[in-house]
Amino acid sequence: MPKPGQKTVTMSGAPLKTLEAKYEEEKKVRPNLSFAAFVTESALMELERRDMLKEAQLISLVAYTDDTAILKDARKGNKFFEVQIRNKKLKCLTDNDFDCVHVGFALALPQVRKALAND
Ligand SMILES: [Zn+2]
Repeated sequence: MPKPGQKTVTMSGAPLKTLEAKYEEEKKVRPNLSFAAFVTESALMELERRDMLKEAQLISLVAYTDDTAILKDARKGNKFFEVQIRNKKLKCLTDNDFDCVHVGFALALPQVRKALAND
């Protein structure tokens, strides 16, 4: 029985088999990972990915130079955001952030992937 603040979820059939197979793979790398932690983590990551995709639809690439992507963000009054690549790391200069949605967007650009692979 779940304790207060917990919830039990029942899974079955093909989805369960798929999750168990993926879990077995992941466990090879992280032996201490429980099935519950794996499922929770996967669900949260997927939700974050969806949020990211939703936000990313409103962002577009304006220009790309050797180490900088200039992005336009429609959510923020079409303001420009500058994402710089330095030492294989991306940083949004406008937000002064290594992990904002602009960094996420820039990471998916082929030009950036190429730059990260080359240095
Ligand atoms: Zn940003």
